[in-house]
Amino acid sequence: MKLDVFAMDTYMTVTAYGADDALMTDVENEIRRIESALSVTIPESEIFILNREGTADVSDTTLEIISGALEVCSATDGALDISIYPVVREWGFTTGEYKVPDGDTIEALLKKVDYTGISVNGNTVALEDGMMVDLGSVVKGYLGDDLVSVLRDHGIKSAILDLGGNVQALGCRPDGEQWKVAVRSPDHNGYLGTVLVSDETVITSGGYERYFEEDGKTYWHIIDPSTGYPAESGLVSVTVIGKEGLRSDALSTALFVMGYEKSFEFWKENRDFEMILVTDNDEVYITSGLCDRFTLSDESPYELKVIEDDKN
Ligand code: AMP
Ligand code: MG
Repeated sequence: MKLDVFAMDTYMTVTAYGADDALMTDVENEIRRIESALSVTIPESEIFILNREGTADVSDTTLEIISGALEVCSATDGALDISIYPVVREWGFTTGEYKVPDGDTIEALLKKVDYTGISVNGNTVALEDGMMVDLGSVVKGYLGDDLVSVLRDHGIKSAILDLGGNVQALGCRPDGEQWKVAVRSPDHNGYLGTVLVSDETVITSGGYERYFEEDGKTYWHIIDPSTGYPAESGLVSVTVIGKEGLRSDALSTALFVMGYEKSFEFWKENRDFEMILVTDNDEVYITSGLCDRFTLSDESPYELKVIEDDKN
């Protein structure tokens, strides 16, 4: 069965083999539940209240997402920083009313950006003075994990979820083959290539997903927390293939900020995921675990390189 939903500002499709109407209704309700808990713009959401009050008792779901995201904030040394919201908002990325803020404004807002000022005690989350959080970098990844567990609990063994470009695979295809997932091309033309997966998630962060242009310059929605400006790391797209949606989504955003060298170092130290990095020189780098399951599209203008792993 297939379910199409518009939620979290994007189109989502859940295809689950062997599911019935009642289960798909449960899936849709779950998407709505997560959306209404976590949106930064819905006034009753837990995150909205947390940002307004500076402290809130949150649900287990919200707690799990904040804790999971904070782990990656710390592991990436703040390349991911879920307290970036005041800056993201000033650029207009949450409303679509885009503008380039002046340097002083960014500098002042950056003083409120520091994930170490978020404290968690039981289900109580507290923010340092004036801080605000935005879980936009991780929420779709978390949703993938969550929906897969709902489907699994109902005995589903084969499903593919496309949550606005974040793809989550449950098991294999009904015919026993791996799922072939298309990775979007950063140049807007067709797709970059395909990757074969089962029980994994394929999550891309790209500057082309949300951006605006002013005076001939492009500004995109992924912000470098060390500058307050859109990240210019030399990467135009990062795809993470991993077991866990929340972590993979957090990493796709963080690695986009970190750039090729630091991403490679991070991968060598962790090795619990694979990645596809596209640089602004039209090069596509893949980690060694993707060699026999990533295929570059025929129409792709890019050059494919395998990230050399000096341990092998
Ligand atoms: P994604 O598409 O998963 O890479 O997430 C991008 C979204 O995360 C943006 O639209 C912002 O809401 C938010 N964001 C931007 N930069 C950062 C950052 N450095 N750390 C955490 N969240 C960010
Ligand atoms: Mg992300």
